[in-house]
Amino acid sequence: MENKGLLLVLSGPSGAGKGTVCRALLQNNPSMVLSVSATTRPPREGEEDGVHYYFLEKETFKKMIEEGQFLEWAEVYGNYYGTPRRFVQEALGRGEDVILEIDIQGALQVKEKIPEAVLVFLIPPSRSELSLRLVSRGLDLPEEIEKRLNCSADEIKLAERYDYIVVNDDIGRAAGKVEAIIMAEKSRPRYF
Ligand code: 5GP
Repeated sequence: MENKGLLLVLSGPSGAGKGTVCRALLQNNPSMVLSVSATTRPPREGEEDGVHYYFLEKETFKKMIEEGQFLEWAEVYGNYYGTPRRFVQEALGRGEDVILEIDIQGALQVKEKIPEAVLVFLIPPSRSELSLRLVSRGLDLPEEIEKRLNCSADEIKLAERYDYIVVNDDIGRAAGKVEAIIMAEKSRPRYF
């Protein structure tokens, strides 16, 4: 079946501001929905099951992989993350625009399966800015931050496989750029 909605995949190094840009997009575009991922990572303080993630045991996650329940899945920083296939397919079929906030491995899997998916890579203005954001959000331990910073240097090199790169120097401006991308992509003949 032809997808009527647009599938937007947003990735970027941890601390690039994906979550904030996502929230801004959802707030400004009531027809957009966010796909809630499944993960085996334990919840952080304030995170709710079914809202931020579906928090699953590794066994359950593996069973879902076997059953083909994920559109994509990947191991990130030692935990499994995956996008439930059914939600995405149904929302796109209804004509809703869907955002996936996922890592590069997952994004490339999605592009392979759904070539019309639009891949946007969000980058912070500089490595020092990224490091500052990770420390000041206070969510991760120092060794975790180091791991994430090291990963992001490799990640940024892969950004050229994306359709668009957006520098997040300012939330409003970055969200505006992503909205402009969505608007342009939705003007393609396939959406008429
Ligand atoms: P966090 O643990 O900080 O919430 O997320 C860690 C990384 O996993 C982030 O880069 C995030 O984009 C990615 N991620 C979250 N959900 C998914 C998913 O469903 N699939 C994939 N491949 N990556 C995900």
